[in-house]
Amino acid sequence: RAHVLVKTRYEPACTQDGVSIRLLGNIELLEDVEEVIDAGAEGVGLYRTEFLYMNREDTPDEEEQLEHYRAVIDQLRGRPLTIRTLDLGADKALDQETAHHCANPALGLRAIRLCLHDPSLFRPQLKAVLRAAALGPVEMMLPMLSSLGELRQALALIAEVKQELAAEGKDFDAAMPVGGMIEVPAAALAADMFAAELDFLSIGTNDLIQYTLAIDRVDDEVNYLYDPTHPAVLDLIRRIIQAGARHKVPVSMCGEMAGDPLYSRLLLGLGLNSFSMQASSLLEVKHLIRQTRLDRIMEPVETLMQTWDPDRRAELLAQIQNLQC
Ligand code: PEP
Ligand code: MG
Repeated sequence: RAHVLVKTRYEPACTQDGVSIRLLGNIELLEDVEEVIDAGAEGVGLYRTEFLYMNREDTPDEEEQLEHYRAVIDQLRGRPLTIRTLDLGADKALDQETAHHCANPALGLRAIRLCLHDPSLFRPQLKAVLRAAALGPVEMMLPMLSSLGELRQALALIAEVKQELAAEGKDFDAAMPVGGMIEVPAAALAADMFAAELDFLSIGTNDLIQYTLAIDRVDDEVNYLYDPTHPAVLDLIRRIIQAGARHKVPVSMCGEMAGDPLYSRLLLGLGLNSFSMQASSLLEVKHLIRQTRLDRIMEPVETLMQTWDPDRRAELLAQIQNLQC
């Protein structure tokens, strides 16, 4: 088995019927980059930058952030990097004090909301990412978008800091692509609007499932209800993928679902052609992609999407997984 996977490392992520699938890695720290490259990822589809801010007294300034990004870009040696802007709050609290500040932190002032609420926190990061984009193929990704208003506000802030950088005479990439995470059900339902305004979309299933099913992603007591195959979740995922296709905007998935081989064929059947995951899953998922014929899985996936009984769904999922393509 290990031998098969080692061989897979050097083979393309291509289905039996010749469709190329993009495989990217998720990273949190500089140390993660090498592992992602070793596993054969094309680049990084999710760099969770909040770890730069955690476990310290102060916040990293523009220069410090730029140095971190530069180190990641150097290690990637020309491979693309998607930097997600600060996703603090809820499950990624800076400290215990802010963690319990409000009754429902997952519904509170987190991620893009927190950044727009406190531009003095956001601006240095926007500037650092824009400057990093002059050093390599860098894209910026905004987390937890839910409305056009906050997207416009974020884009206006980006336009503003570009002018500042220009006035300061600093190098930056004015054409840096800006994308958004679709991880709130409202954003999934409004995916056409977001696709029209952004350069790419990435599906954050960890939060999308949490918010769609009203299941706290970190509460063990309701964990048994956390089901990525719930037809309501699958319907939202497919809507996002189709909206991207309509607008010719790339759609990737960077939640845990993308890195679980149990769902690889299901996601291929929903039309997903770009997956971003932790390094340890990359070979296994690529192996499955290489063993899949899309025309053979479309029908069973369609059936699964319309199956409301969770036990029956689990059976169908196993059948799809074991199908000889
Ligand atoms: C997600 O929500 O699926 C995601 C990738 O982001 P995070 O897990 O960092 O919230
Ligand atoms: Mg998320």
